[in-house]
Amino acid sequence: MSTVLPPGVSRAAFNKACEEFRAIVGREWVFTDETALAPYRDPYYPGDPMEHTPSGTVAPINVEQVQGVLKVANRHGIPVWAVSGGKNFAYGGAAPAMSGSLVLDLNRMKKIEVNEEMAYAIVEPGVTYFDLFNHLQERKSRLWVDPPQPGWGSVIGNTLDRGLGYTAYADHSSSYCGLEVVLADGSLMRTGMGAQEDNPTWALYRYGFGPGVDGLFQQSNLGVVTRMGVWLMPAPETFAVVQGWVPNEADVIPLIDTVRELRIADVMPPSTITNFLRGMTSATTKAQWHKGEGAIPAETVERMKVEFKRGSWGVRFGLYGNEDVVAAKLKVINAELSKIQGYTSKATRYKRGDKVAGGDLLWAGTPVLSFGSLSWIEGVGAHVDQSPILPMSGQFVHDFLREKTELLRQHGFDHFVSIFNTSPRIAVNTASLVFDKSNPEQQRRVLTTGHELIRHAAKYHLGMYRGHLVDMDLAAGQFNFGNHAMQRFYERLKDTLDPKGILSPGKQGVWPKSLRTARKGGAR
Ligand SMILES: Cc1cc2nc3c(=O)[nH]c(=O)nc-3n(C[C@H](O)[C@H](O)[C@H](O)COP(=O)(O)OP(=O)(O)OC[C@H]3O[C@@H](n4cnc5c(N)ncnc54)[C@H](O)[C@@H]3O)c2cc1C
Repeated sequence: MSTVLPPGVSRAAFNKACEEFRAIVGREWVFTDETALAPYRDPYYPGDPMEHTPSGTVAPINVEQVQGVLKVANRHGIPVWAVSGGKNFAYGGAAPAMSGSLVLDLNRMKKIEVNEEMAYAIVEPGVTYFDLFNHLQERKSRLWVDPPQPGWGSVIGNTLDRGLGYTAYADHSSSYCGLEVVLADGSLMRTGMGAQEDNPTWALYRYGFGPGVDGLFQQSNLGVVTRMGVWLMPAPETFAVVQGWVPNEADVIPLIDTVRELRIADVMPPSTITNFLRGMTSATTKAQWHKGEGAIPAETVERMKVEFKRGSWGVRFGLYGNEDVVAAKLKVINAELSKIQGYTSKATRYKRGDKVAGGDLLWAGTPVLSFGSLSWIEGVGAHVDQSPILPMSGQFVHDFLREKTELLRQHGFDHFVSIFNTSPRIAVNTASLVFDKSNPEQQRRVLTTGHELIRHAAKYHLGMYRGHLVDMDLAAGQFNFGNHAMQRFYERLKDTLDPKGILSPGKQGVWPKSLRTARKGGAR
């Protein structure tokens, strides 16, 4: 039996609701015992994961069951936290923002429809990147997926949290089209052109007639998404995976500016820019270079650069098309980046159907299970991300990151920089706090440092791209224009669409009226 109950719900009332859930989804798909709930706690939680623990989970298999579950939850006032893959590691896993919420686990909903001609799929929440990839392979489809680093997450969960990939379709928020949503009262709707019965452009044109609402369901607690259209890239005739390096720390300034210009001119697709240390996490371990506590000293990093013959910054991207297109783009990009003194690069070329090297798979639309930086440290590797959105402006990025390195150093953390230039004018700066989960002192430092990183970004008037459960209120609190006018708008929507406040209370810092006092830190 679970140790935690939804706030204000008695054990008897909870048990009664669970009986009603069982009648809808089948007895074996409602879990309330502690052992079964363990996977629904955050394995990377920097502290006691019981701070975000569910009262139970319910796993429907179709949209009618989702509707039924929400109707019962609404009647009994039971908060529900929806997950699709439940693998949102670094941001909270499958755990709810508010303890006692019931996890609505949508993993069993796995239907996939593919439209080869129009190059899209319609997926249900349980479809992972591996599932979609395998489905396409089995039917010898010409279409690729665009996976995030670990491919075990779901297409819907990743997209709703505004996740990112690596190919030309890296900005997942620009490549989904058409949602089916169950609202808190159990009613069902489709967005965009899907609002019209059987409209063949549902997954082709996202705006519909009247105000567009798709964005209201990303990073949101206004509805549960049960189907989504996702555009898929046709496998190109040829492609090249390019890795470039620039030698000096300050070269990040022209690197960022050049990439931005190439992106705005539509010559270059999305790219990732990483600092030297981030690149090292897959090549060596910290212990080989530095014994003892604290961040790796700057002199040691310089010594490593010499040893590994690597520059201070790397840029990595794929180029896709026929041979002429790829060659022409590569020529222009090389000419522009070579204006940075000491720029070196390597392009690995592939034809459709070639075997792709392991390190290039993500750029070839192939999901992998890779955990990047976690093996850098000793102990049980985990990480939490505080990821601001920066303007793609060299000097700005340089100054911001230099100060951030210093801040992290003071708190004993190495600074791994990744910049996802998924749309031409912005830099999504994911910078993981990597820590040993078995070390309580490190966990404590992750919590305090994470909050400092959010405040540091706010000093530059920057906000986060995504948020871990422990940071959501603080991150939301930074959006302060008009005395937090946007937050109040979200709250008005919440109170109208979900008056009992049952859908994912606290997600992205949006709490229902009855629970607004629960908001932590950053309260306005
Ligand atoms: C080493 C490492 C590397 C990573 N690299 C990347 C990367 O390259 N790119 C990237 O984007 N992420 C990355 N991540 C973060 C994360 O693992 C992925 O984004 C993952 O795909 C998210 O898990 P999921 O798809 O199972 O989402 P879920 O856990 O299902 O959900 C994500 C969020 O959306 C909400 N949600 C889910 N389904 C629904 C629904 N049907 N209706 C309403 N709300 C819903 C959930 O409440 C949750 O807040 C990385 C994590 C690690 C540990």
